[in-house]
Amino acid sequence: MSKDTQWKYSETEINQVDYLKNESLMTVSNGYLSIRGSYEEGNMSYGHQGTYLNGLYEFHDLHYGEKFTAYPDKSQVMVNLPDPKTVNFKINGESLSLETSKISSYHRELDLRSGILKREFVWETSTGAKAKVCSRRFASSVEKHLICIKYEIQFYQGEGDYYIESIIDTNRHNISKEDDPRIGVEFNHNPIVILNRGLEDELMFLNGETYDSKQKFNVYLLNEYNVDGIKVDTETGILQGQFGDDTSIILYKYIWLDKNETGDSKRALNSLKKKGYRHALDENSQWWKRQWEHMDVVIKGDKLMQKAIRLNLYHLTQNVGKDGYTNISAKGMTGEGYEGHYFWDTEIYMLPFFVYTNPDIAKSLLMYRYNTLEQARSRALQMGHKQGVLYPWRTINGEECSSFFPAGTAQYHINADIAYGIKLYYEATNDWKFIQDYGMEILIELANLWLDMGQFDHQGRFCIHEVTGPDEYSCLVNNNTYTNIMVKNEFEFLLSLIEKCQEESSGLSLKSMELIQAFEVERAKRVIEHMYLAYDDTLKIYAQDDGFLSKPVWDFAETPKEKYPLLMHYHPLTLYRYQVCKQADVVLAELLQPTMFTPEQKKRDFDYYEKITTHDSSLSNCIYGIMAAELGDLEKSYDYYMKTAKTDIEDVHQNAKDGIHAANMAGSWLGIVYGFAGLRIKDGELTFNSKIPKNWEEYSFHLRFKNQVYEIKVNQNDVKIIEKKC
Ligand code: BGC
Repeated sequence: MSKDTQWKYSETEINQVDYLKNESLMTVSNGYLSIRGSYEEGNMSYGHQGTYLNGLYEFHDLHYGEKFTAYPDKSQVMVNLPDPKTVNFKINGESLSLETSKISSYHRELDLRSGILKREFVWETSTGAKAKVCSRRFASSVEKHLICIKYEIQFYQGEGDYYIESIIDTNRHNISKEDDPRIGVEFNHNPIVILNRGLEDELMFLNGETYDSKQKFNVYLLNEYNVDGIKVDTETGILQGQFGDDTSIILYKYIWLDKNETGDSKRALNSLKKKGYRHALDENSQWWKRQWEHMDVVIKGDKLMQKAIRLNLYHLTQNVGKDGYTNISAKGMTGEGYEGHYFWDTEIYMLPFFVYTNPDIAKSLLMYRYNTLEQARSRALQMGHKQGVLYPWRTINGEECSSFFPAGTAQYHINADIAYGIKLYYEATNDWKFIQDYGMEILIELANLWLDMGQFDHQGRFCIHEVTGPDEYSCLVNNNTYTNIMVKNEFEFLLSLIEKCQEESSGLSLKSMELIQAFEVERAKRVIEHMYLAYDDTLKIYAQDDGFLSKPVWDFAETPKEKYPLLMHYHPLTLYRYQVCKQADVVLAELLQPTMFTPEQKKRDFDYYEKITTHDSSLSNCIYGIMAAELGDLEKSYDYYMKTAKTDIEDVHQNAKDGIHAANMAGSWLGIVYGFAGLRIKDGELTFNSKIPKNWEEYSFHLRFKNQVYEIKVNQNDVKIIEKKC
């Protein structure tokens, strides 16, 4: 295998610890479907084999001891599907096994440049036969329903019988519940019903449906065998015969998964098979090559960081839904942590990467919000609001899934985060048509919610009561500073757009025109002018919320290391009674609204909140790192950056087995672009304040801004911003 290590994520031995992590990290996906990085051999796994379709979920009934109005009845859970990658391989009746087989020369690597997962090893059986086993697999980003596998066996010692079967294994399940709120549920029924399965002209097929949510899916498999270079037909996917010491066998598996939305899938798969494995592989490699041209970040002088950032960008790109109806979940499609749900992680953490490198994908993420506007409208009504939309804290189909409302539904800031995402996209692309057709409608409906829910108090201040901000260790608070700041900014943006519509003959959708006419512009102006922000005059810092600073500070000195993350060891109410933060909150607001605060203010807030923040959420380190860079502490910034970039590659939270930390991965991109390079948008223009860690020789990346591509190169002496052709 190639030595180009900075494009490879690899392992050279089979051990349980790495295996568990790498089942997630070696996932191949294209945003529509995914297969976790488990071995093809069905009985060789330490962990959890997973095959998923983005957006395919089963309902799971939520049970409450005491259920109140508008508590969601059902959650949605990403379903683990029948497994079409399975290859069972026997030599002289002996199967490959992790416990007993003698395996040597093991090497596995994910080629980040082309999205191919390769594995090879030598197997010596108990009867002394030896075979080299190599497999390659990729999920096609050109034909989103397709996964290809090439499974090769080269015998070179001994003789006897071999048996190979290539099947769709239905013995796969979702993970069962563990004592960890971040993982999820155990179904009390089989989430999948197999409606039909069989064999038809060499095609293995399985048509299924989720039990309760009634979503249909299909899995198809076409096998193609070559023995010593000669094509061998098998109807059943089974091949058996005799081997000598130079017999070679190649099995190509062409796998098709769909959500029953395609026409003649069988024909499509047959024609892909005719074009061949090489064709699909080349097309896919070309696709990745094009992506890397505009999204790569090159770091010279720090090999680990180079590899980590590429691994992170690879996962973001492959896991993101690209069709406007699916999104990117907190774990991508690499594991079942958080049940496959989409969160605010998308708009605040991941969207910037797509906005500046691949705006079409950014648009489709925002289109997902547009396409779930109806569900958000119903949710607002259920929650007793007279107008507007309320987006779900966590969801797949657009309906709220959070059963613990204090750290779920109460996070109304998701609404402001979506508005922020639209602003970010619009500022970077000038895509006025998007605003006309979709953005304006979402923005007005978001603002209508705040107008319904916020209140002018007796002093005329606009207050937002009983919400939870980003920090989940303080819940149900009044005037969370992050929320109020983001809402203020959302209103400013919306009013600027309304003004633009009035100035230009707008071409707005009818729905948006009606909404604008009914919109309370004067009240919105008062919201901006009188937005209340909790400020402590003695400490001269922004309080995270009204009551935050009156609480005692958590006793960090008396909290042993094993008690982190705190959420796993203390009742939520215990945490809520102290000044202790799970993640960036005020500091995040000050990063997102850079011109609203003086550097001195940011420094005071940073210093105060840093001392009481545990970073128990993986969404936190990156934000502190970026702000440390802005405030001039490059060493501290680098320290936070390292923690961010290494989160998954070194499994810092020890839960990579349940999937990647997608927002954190995006945070490693933000750490370079917003952090070291200091990108901020000011008055609608790109600005930089670039720095470079002392052990790096150079870093560079590309940004797309208003139909122009820029390459930014920073070394120890120099910063270059080069305009490039689009
Ligand atoms: C964080 C949330 C985040 C969620 C999913 C939680 O631990 O506190 O902010 O949205 O994980 O990543």
